[in-house]
Amino acid sequence: MADKKRILLCLAHMSETGEEMKFIKEAFDTNWVVPLGPNVNGFEQDLESFINHCDDGRTLDKKVVALSAGTAAIHLALVALGVGAGDEVICQSFTFAASANPVVYQGATPVFVDSEPGTWNMDPNLLEEAIKDRIAKTGRKPKAIIPVYLYGMPAYIDEIMDVARRYEIPVLEDAAEGFGTRYRGQVVGTIGDYGVMSFNGNKMITTSGGGALICPNEEAAKRILFFATQAREPFPYYQHEHIGFNYRMSNICAGIGRGQMTIVDEHIAHHVRARDIYAQGLADVDGITLHVAPEDDMEPNYWLHTVTVDPEKFGIDYDQLRIILDEAGIESRPLWKPMHLQPVYKDAPAYVNGVSEKLFARGLCLPSGPMVTDEDFALIISTIKGAKK
Ligand SMILES: *Cc1c(COP(=O)(O)O)cnc(C)c1O
Repeated sequence: MADKKRILLCLAHMSETGEEMKFIKEAFDTNWVVPLGPNVNGFEQDLESFINHCDDGRTLDKKVVALSAGTAAIHLALVALGVGAGDEVICQSFTFAASANPVVYQGATPVFVDSEPGTWNMDPNLLEEAIKDRIAKTGRKPKAIIPVYLYGMPAYIDEIMDVARRYEIPVLEDAAEGFGTRYRGQVVGTIGDYGVMSFNGNKMITTSGGGALICPNEEAAKRILFFATQAREPFPYYQHEHIGFNYRMSNICAGIGRGQMTIVDEHIAHHVRARDIYAQGLADVDGITLHVAPEDDMEPNYWLHTVTVDPEKFGIDYDQLRIILDEAGIESRPLWKPMHLQPVYKDAPAYVNGVSEKLFARGLCLPSGPMVTDEDFALIISTIKGAKK
């Protein structure tokens, strides 16, 4: 039993041809082990060509700055948007804490907005209600809006952008889980003012740890780079007129990223194909609902596959199912606990409609990564079927 393979949610996976090692070796051979260097620029260019290409042939002109983490990318975008002490920033409640924590790093207050049931992401109507209510209560507009592409699912981002434009509030898309997700033929993260990518170990692609910020233009990217590298003014000595950060991606991590970009399409194809396998395998299981895109023009990367369990119909609840899967060597995990339920955010204003609370009480993430084989998927499906009471 000890060496029995465990099926994990989403494990990092390197290219079979070792492209990552080639880029890292090049960095060592040329002594480019310091931050900055050809891999960082090369990785940024790879990312730009990936995100700027739209299905209808349009080419965008967004710039990418590679950083040490997705969390750092969110933080720097807030800095660039001028978020500071006493400000409020609207953030999707149903997300990982990293979406909201940088708001607090800036001395600002997150205001949480619940999800709508189709995409599980920010509800555009509730967003507008929240903005109106914040203006009524504080006399000021929120400084930014952070929608999230949870589990790689698109949001109703056109509707969110429409509200944001009407109130002239910038949008920072948290696409950390949505690398390569498309909405109406456009890569998410390129629709708002800034977009966040993450290359943590369990994300769609990895640099062991890292992230990037999609910026609207060259000027904005230069400003982000300035803050990411300790805000050094152009003097021969070190002159500082702003508070900076040490958030740049290293040349070694970027080398892994360049290698990963050679297989990113395969990774996404694997996750999307898993949707069909789960959909087929779970179609006739009463009480299990697979979460899929609610609209045809939404193309999730399906980073993690998620199901909701109706205990009335299925006979056991999501947590009992989680334990049964665990005993069969299969990792599954409850959905993100909404931020408005987190003890650390108990005093933050929240606009809720029950959607994320209900999902949290019913949902599970299932394995989907490139290391999950067809036999693994078959075992996961048969274990779920066998668990039904
Ligand atoms: C992973 C993640 C982040 C943070 O990215 P890191 O690279 O781990 O700092 C932010 N938001 C969401 C929704 C995430 O899942």
